[in-house]
Order: sequence, then C-alpha cells, then structure tokens
Amino acid sequence: MQLKEVVIVGAGPAGLTAGIYAARSGLETLVFEKALAGGLVNITDRIDNFPGFPQGISGMELGDRMRQQAERFGATILTEDVKKIAKNGRQILIETDRGKHLALAAIVATGSTPKKIGVPGEEEYIGKGVSYCATCDGPLYKDKVTTVIGGGDSALQEAIYLAGLASTVHIIHRRDQLRGAKVLQDEIRRNPKIILHLNKRILSIEGEDKVTGVRVEDKATGVVETISADGVFIYVGYSPSVACLGDEFEKTPEGFVVTKSNLETSVEGVFAAGDVRAKELRQVVTAAGDGALAAMAVYTYLQSLQQSP
Ligand code: NAP
Repeated sequence: MQLKEVVIVGAGPAGLTAGIYAARSGLETLVFEKALAGGLVNITDRIDNFPGFPQGISGMELGDRMRQQAERFGATILTEDVKKIAKNGRQILIETDRGKHLALAAIVATGSTPKKIGVPGEEEYIGKGVSYCATCDGPLYKDKVTTVIGGGDSALQEAIYLAGLASTVHIIHRRDQLRGAKVLQDEIRRNPKIILHLNKRILSIEGEDKVTGVRVEDKATGVVETISADGVFIYVGYSPSVACLGDEFEKTPEGFVVTKSNLETSVEGVFAAGDVRAKELRQVVTAAGDGALAAMAVYTYLQSLQQSP
C-alpha cells in the first residue's frame, strides 16, 4: 500500500477546492468520489450566488470547472466509494469498494444526501413520478403539472426551474411561512405558473402505475384534498453523509461532523469540510471556503509531523 500525503473523500465544491489548495501546495493529493465530480452542485440547475459569475452559472459547469482546476494542479480524482475512514497508528486508513489506502492526513468532504418525508407512496413511486432532483428529471415534465414539497431555498429554487418547463408548479409547505431567501420568495410569488399551498401536512403520495397527486391536510381547518400532479419533487433538507465515519468522530445529534476552528475532527489528522460539517451556513461558497481552510490545515499538520520524532 503506497502512503499518500493527503486523501480527500468527496469531490463536491469542498473536496475539489481542498484538492486545488492541497495539490497547489505541492502535496500528493488523491480525491475519491463515488459518482461524478461536482457533488450536489451537479443537480442544481443554476447557481446565482457564487462570486465571479454575474449572470449565474449552471451547477454542472461550476462543478466541472472546479474538477479541471484541481486536476490542473496535479490532484488525482478516482471513482471509488469510500466505506471507512479510520486511524491506523499515526496514519489514516481509507477503505473503498476497490481496496485500502493509507494517508498521512484525510479531509472528509462527503456532503449530504436528500432527506425523505416518509409518507406512504414516497418509496413506491421513486422513479415513477417521485424525484429528489429537478435538474435531472424536470425535463420529463414539460407542459405537465408538478409539485414541489418543502419551503427552503432548495424547494423554491427548483420550483422556479420547474416553472420554466411545466405547465403548473404547486409548492406545498408545512408552515404558513416559507423558510427560503426573500429574493426567491419574491420570484415565486411573481411567477404565474407557481401556486403556493401553505400550512399543509403531506398525508401520502397517490398513484396507480405512476404518480397522480399528493394528498394533503390543511393544518388549520383539517380539510383533506388531493392536489393532482404528474411529478412530485421532494426538497425537505439534507442529511450528512457519514456512513464511513465511526463513533470516534464526534458528531452533532443530527449527525454533522464536529470540527475545531482549523476544521480538524475529533480524530487527529482527519479534517472535515463542506456540508458534512456542523456549521451555520451551507452554500457552495462556504463549502469552497472550508476546502481551502482544511487543505491549509493539512499542510500545517504534515509539517508538524515532520518536526515531531
Ligand atoms: P432546509 O433549509 O433545511 O429546508 C427544508 C424545508 O423542508 C423546510 O422548509 C422544512 O420546513 C421542510 N421540511 C423538512 N422536513 C419536512 C417534512 N418531514 N415534511 C414536510 N416538510 C419538511 O433545506 P434546503 O432548502 O434543502 O437547504 C439546505 C441548505 O442549502 C440551506 O442552508 C440552504 O440555505 C442551502 N441552499 C441555498 C441555496 C441558495 O443559496 N440559492 C439553494 C439551495 C440550498 P420548515 O420550514 O417548517 O422547517
């Protein structure tokens, strides 16, 4: 097993930025990604708040540009699914679906995965009308009726994207106030194709061989109705992807990885960056900032290893 200087797990904005900074600092940098480099930005239609792109940029393009930049500085990106990250003496053992790797330091940038709402019909109709990715599946609903569940930035942003394709977009939210940014709220309220349903509890997703609608209950009146729809897009938040981290990694009750100010986790030599980390603001720009900080902290850590006997 060849010993690497730094292994980065996850090639989203945090992992790729860490890759840029680590490789550019001359560290031998290996990045593992189980799917396509870019991470969650790949399933974001448009990113309007990443500095330097005044007209916005497609998530897919931004992710691909970050990948190219990391590779230009010498980071190697491998398609392997990391199953376990653990301390092995003073080194870090990284087990993937393909084999084992040893590194002096690691950066966990595994991000997060969409949450499910857990109502009848959700699992049953995945791929038959239920989706967690408007950018991937939205084009299937051209001139059809779609429903978006959730009231955060993701739900509002993806509803706006869907309104460019579908005939009607229903947004169903459980409270009487939306959580998403005011700029997005203003945009959806101006869009004649978007219908807002506030204060509704989702009872089930209805269908036959594919989705036909969403059964909801008004929380104030108790009235139950079915909102007809061909597609249901669920955006009720994200859970951290921490399956590869054991109990020695301190996490919040929600499962986010706790880090020190230099982004080191409770395991010496393992750092965390991006959405997987416990923090205030989850944005592409903060993920990139984390990646830079974690890579430079690794650099300092490796220097300290050289100085200690
Ligand atoms: P989020 O902010 O956690 O919002 C999740 C939404 O789903 C909330 O409105 C929540 O309702 C609702 N919800 C949660 N569980 C539910 C359930 N079981 N049934 C029905 N509704 C449920 O998640 P997000 O919108 O995916 O955003 C995640 C992070 O990414 C945030 O930090 C966000 O700012 C960021 N983001 C930013 C942008 C942007 O800047 N343009 C775009 C996308 C995401 P309540 O409101 O009642 O809690």
